[in-house]
Amino acid sequence: MSTNAPASKPAIFSLKDFLSSFMLLELLKGLALTGRAAFRRKVTLLYPEEKTPLSPRFRGLHALRRYDNGEERCIACQLCEAICPALAITIESEMRADGSRRTKRYDIDFTKCIFCGFCEESCPVDAIVETDILEFHGEKRGDLYFTKDMLLAIGDRFETEIAANRVLDAKYR
Ligand code: SF4
Ligand code: SF4
Repeated sequence: MSTNAPASKPAIFSLKDFLSSFMLLELLKGLALTGRAAFRRKVTLLYPEEKTPLSPRFRGLHALRRYDNGEERCIACQLCEAICPALAITIESEMRADGSRRTKRYDIDFTKCIFCGFCEESCPVDAIVETDILEFHGEKRGDLYFTKDMLLAIGDRFETEIAANRVLDAKYR
């Protein structure tokens, strides 16, 4: 004779289940939970109309910055290119007539970038930075390949916000 037959529940549990089911206790518990949640502070937002606050060190779209006199900050040291784990940065440099070194090509392929922030951390002159811009997209692969002019244009347009975030984050750096 088989010994694997399921053991029947003790009568006390059956009675408890019956009463619980008869009095709709599970339903009432669910309604109580819904009622409590209905008056709690809402944690969901109606994005994109409503947005969560972002940290000053948020790692979004990159930008190349200039000094106040309009000169590019980047000195083409290529530290950012060397440290980039995704090999997303491509730099070519040239020597100017005044002996200073500048990039003639500075590209970032955002289809490769993993937004680790290493390029920003490695830059000795705060030239390459990550902004808090997160709403950008490309519809084909080439759309996310940003050239030096594009990165400088982002820096020019958002310099006020970038500088303010750098000040807020300065004590942690
Ligand atoms: S954030 Fe990271 S992956 Fe992206 S370009 Fe900078 S170093 Fe490379
Ligand atoms: S962005 Fe900064 S780290 Fe990269 S090449 Fe320019 S100066 Fe060097």
